[in-house]
Amino acid sequence: MNILVINCGSSSLKYQLLNMNDESVLASGLVERIGIEGAQLKHEIPGHDKEVIKTPMKDHKEALGHVLDAITHEKYGAIKELKEINAIGHRVVHAGEKYAASVIIDEKVIKALEECIELAPLHNPPNLMGIEAMQELLPGVPNVGVFDTAFHQTMPASSYIYALPYELYEKYGVRRYGFHGTSHRYVSQRAADMLGKDIKDLKLVTCHLGNGASLAAVQGGKVMATSMGFTPLEGLVMGTRCGDIDPAIVTFIMNKEGLTPQEADNLLNKQSGVLGISGVSSDFRDIENAAAEGNERAQLALDAFDQRVTQYIAAYAAVMGGVDAVIFTAGLGENSIDNRQAICKPLAFMGIEVDPAKNNIRGKDTVVSTDSSKVKVLVVPTNEELMIARDTLELVK
Ligand code: ADP
Repeated sequence: MNILVINCGSSSLKYQLLNMNDESVLASGLVERIGIEGAQLKHEIPGHDKEVIKTPMKDHKEALGHVLDAITHEKYGAIKELKEINAIGHRVVHAGEKYAASVIIDEKVIKALEECIELAPLHNPPNLMGIEAMQELLPGVPNVGVFDTAFHQTMPASSYIYALPYELYEKYGVRRYGFHGTSHRYVSQRAADMLGKDIKDLKLVTCHLGNGASLAAVQGGKVMATSMGFTPLEGLVMGTRCGDIDPAIVTFIMNKEGLTPQEADNLLNKQSGVLGISGVSSDFRDIENAAAEGNERAQLALDAFDQRVTQYIAAYAAVMGGVDAVIFTAGLGENSIDNRQAICKPLAFMGIEVDPAKNNIRGKDTVVSTDSSKVKVLVVPTNEELMIARDTLELVK
């Protein structure tokens, strides 16, 4: 059974073709600059050099057509014929309160996702374009939607309700949804496997630390709390997003600087976070380098980032009445040895002890806590594509 996983952004898309008999990746790639000049497809099959195909692609359907050509290409393809693709799994950002698990896509699902566009105006439209394009390009092949918000739907109301007039929740769906759900679900399952425990018996804090960053408290396999909110802006300090701030700051700055709502939104989402504090970059590698050279604001950005993660881990342990393991994933979580150490150090009082030698790894499934650490600390590289493919297989088989 071969499954094609598709993740459509506004002008880019990522794909992976997996053979689910052994979960191996047959091909993967990235299309950039869809609908803009300079569109290109970078396609890869294991053991071969990357193939770069430069050709105009006016929309997602055309881009996906080129992806299918590449996958079945005589020279650098992975399969001979399109009928060897048995199902397609789509990453979809927002399913609101409509879906708490992945689903086979039909007209009803498409309508439900269209209704969620106002909750994710940048993400759901390209996700939907990808679904519609695949329905046209591969008619009869089932499409499955896997939602970033779904895993978090188990949160109790006390975790998702905001202390605003309740009518805003009823009228507009203003509540916490949470994101990165597929990643939090994947790493929590993988961590349970690595610890040789049933996920039902575990209290976990999963830390997805990339450009966008969020934490989840996962108890018995269910999310109890998560740090992103109504949008991915809430919670941790991120690459360019501010995370938690006093909401009164927004109107204060709008008045002082004469900003429109759009400009304020841009400031909070694109000019804040570690970029805003450091003035250096949104990329943690640049900030770590600048801090090492003595740039104080870069160091301040790292300290503020780390402290926020530390606070959330302790808070989520409290939400669950304990924690068995803390899991680090995504670009920074998997790779930044120093940040993991700095985040965990103040948590020694809770029985969290990172072993510096074990922690000296990047991007590998590893238990990095000391043998005597009461709480285990794990690095688990995320694999959202595999999770999407597994869900797709489960639903279509
Ligand atoms: P996203 O998918 O949200 O764009 P990623 O999960 O790819 O993000 O994470 C990107 C972040 O991870 C970047 O800020 C990058 O600097 C950071 N990162 C990647 N490798 C390292 C590393 N070796 N050390 C520190 N940070 C790293």
